Order: sequence, then structure tokens, then C-alpha cells
Amino acid sequence: MNIILLGPPGAGKGTQAGLLVEHHGMRQLSTGDMLRAAVKAQTPVGLEAKAVMERGELVSDAIVSALIDDELAAMGADVGAIFDGYPRTEAQAMSLDAILAKHDRALDFVIELMVDEEALVDRVEGRYTCASCGEGYHDRHKQPAVDGVCDKCGGTEFKRRPDDNAETVRTRMAEYRAKTAPILPFYEARGIVQRVDGMAPIEDVTAAIEKVLASA
Ligand code: AMP
Repeated sequence: MNIILLGPPGAGKGTQAGLLVEHHGMRQLSTGDMLRAAVKAQTPVGLEAKAVMERGELVSDAIVSALIDDELAAMGADVGAIFDGYPRTEAQAMSLDAILAKHDRALDFVIELMVDEEALVDRVEGRYTCASCGEGYHDRHKQPAVDGVCDKCGGTEFKRRPDDNAETVRTRMAEYRAKTAPILPFYEARGIVQRVDGMAPIEDVTAAIEKVLASA
């Protein structure tokens, strides 16, 4: 199965993708994670993407589509793909079609996480993750049971994304509205868009996504 998780920053795409990986052995293809790894490793792609990401703008279509193509080429044909944060523009949606065809895959669903933008700024601004295992936390909504210690792995180092500040979040929202939301009709015309309430508790969102997958 191949699915796209679509929604603005903070909608819960990464959280839900992580759960699908756990439950179904699918693979999460997050262009944001790939780009952050490239920035950290100071590769040519990372050097080009760093400032763009810090401003909350979009990295070039050619770069992100090449990242996705490479990942799919390296994956087993029987492993399902969850596209998280890709495609984000009409050009990327077109590229994804070509890339999927090249790898003999077809898109099953585009799952749109419906969310309230104001609540998202609050969600994104306070979020941080365990530096060892990646478990997500939030200053106001989800703190570790023991202060400074990760519930999942016991790690004591945490990190925040440099682009998770109020100003950059607004730019990322604006980019979503202007460039990403307009690709929905493209998939709606194919009858594969399913909407899920992204403001519901995490486990309810997961249940709603599971229901969509089971309808395949
Ligand atoms: P994310 O982790 O998905 O929120 O992405 C973080 C940042 O990486 C975005 O604000 C963009 O600057 C960049 N990025 C991630 N995915 C894409 C994409 N598909 N197209 C363009 N830029 C992207």
C-alpha cells in the first residue's frame, strides 16, 4: 500500500506515520527528515536547503523528488510507503506519479488531516523530541513522566527544530495554503482522498486512519 499523509505543519503527519510504521511495517518517507539529515551531514543538498528551511519556505521540487526516488529505489517492492510531507506542490505531485509508475507502485489513498490553524501554532511552537529515540513531547501537552527523562528510552537529551518558532510556523502555514492545499483537487478527481479529524486525540486519529486503510 502507498499512501500520502497531507496536512499543514503540526497536523500530526509524522506522529501518525510513525504509528503506521510500528503497526504495519510500512516505511515512512519524510522529505523533512531526509533534508534535516542532509543539513546535519552538510551534504551539497543540505547546504542548499538549510537557509530555505530556516525561513520556512519550500526547497526545490527537483531536490525533494530526487530524494523520494532514491528512497523508493532502495526499498523492497513489498514494503508499503507512507509519504509524509511530500508532495507539497503540483510539480511534486506530477513527479510522484512518474516515480511511482517507475517503481511499479500505485497510490491507494491521500489522507488529509483536517486541523485548526490557530491550534497548530501552539502545537508546533512547544514541541520537542528525545534526541536518542525521537519520541515526541510538548511543553504544555505532553511532558515526560520524570522531568528531563524520556519515557520511552530513558534518554536525557532532547532537541527542538530550529524552524518550530512562531514566525517560521506562519510562513510554513502560508506555504501550505498557497502551494500544497491546491494539489488536493488533483487527487480528489481520482476519488482517493479521505479526510480525518486531525484535532482528535492521537489514538482516535490512528483509528480513523486504520479504518481508511481497511477499506482498501
Ligand atoms: P517538515 O519536516 O515536513 O515540516 O519539513 C521541514 C521543512 O523542510 C519545510 O518547511 C521545507 O523547508 C522543507 N521540505 C520538506 N519537505 C519538502 C517538500 N516536499 N518540498 C519542499 N520543501 C520541503
